Amino acid sequence: MIHLVEPLFEGYIIYCNEFALRRRRTGYRRLINRYIKDRNKKEEGLEMDFSEEQIERYSRHIILPEVGGKGQEKLLNAKVFILGAGGLGSPALMYLAAAGVGTIGVADADVVDLSNLQRQIIHNNSRIGQAKVESAKQTINEMNPDVKVNAINERLTVDNIQEVLRDYDVVLDGSDNFPTRFLMNDAAYFENKPLISGSMFRFEGQVATFKGNEGLPCYRCLYPEPPPKGMVPSCGEAGVLGALAGVIGVLQAVEAIKEILGVGDSLAGYLMLFDSLKMSFRKVRVMKDPECALCSPTATIKELTAYEEAVCELRF
Ligand SMILES: [Zn+2]
Repeated sequence: MIHLVEPLFEGYIIYCNEFALRRRRTGYRRLINRYIKDRNKKEEGLEMDFSEEQIERYSRHIILPEVGGKGQEKLLNAKVFILGAGGLGSPALMYLAAAGVGTIGVADADVVDLSNLQRQIIHNNSRIGQAKVESAKQTINEMNPDVKVNAINERLTVDNIQEVLRDYDVVLDGSDNFPTRFLMNDAAYFENKPLISGSMFRFEGQVATFKGNEGLPCYRCLYPEPPPKGMVPSCGEAGVLGALAGVIGVLQAVEAIKEILGVGDSLAGYLMLFDSLKMSFRKVRVMKDPECALCSPTATIKELTAYEEAVCELRF
């Protein structure tokens, strides 16, 4: 059984010398290869021929029965879009790329700033002043050549967002302001895409999955309207714990990967709250608003609305 190979292999690492480790690794690769070939026969619809390099790169996924060759094929064929290459986008982009999500779209109109580097780990010192999407693309290309990156160096608006989202299977919101969150929610609803939303403030973060088209709540069921301009301080004003972005962005990536694989329980219908000071996670139920202006039978919103962005809101 292939499942026994991994612990044996890991156990071997502890005791063996470098030469023995190399020999063992070759044997391991052969086993994974055979495992993939067996699965190819068993799993109908598996069309991809994995290269030796891909088998090794994704071996820790492939040996998971819930993923297997078929799941990895799904990831390589998947298209995920992320709005924002900032605090949340950075870790989400990196883990989705590492997982082998074949096409990743990312939109951001900003350039890398020194104050971003406390949390936006996809960028680095030498990229200050460079477009964030180009910096993100470079990091991903260096990490995993299997991933095609669509870098959109512009701000998404009512005029272009739906067309952009249309090409993707799952969309992630890593934006930092309410007008964009509402725009993203409404566009995802109209384009019938699952939306995985993340947000953070000081030491606390939230993650939610919205599937307004599947009888589950949308973002407007939770927050019907954006707060009045100037009511909510931005991260620039209030501060944010840098590592918190890692927690929330990675949770978004995990949720997206599950969505692609079709495994586990979706977070749709819940809101996950994380308090880093108390080190506590809380999952609370979110009910669909029977009178939601967007996703209820009595909906009044039939097209995208542009909300004004508060001047004081800064980037995550
Ligand atoms: Zn709704």
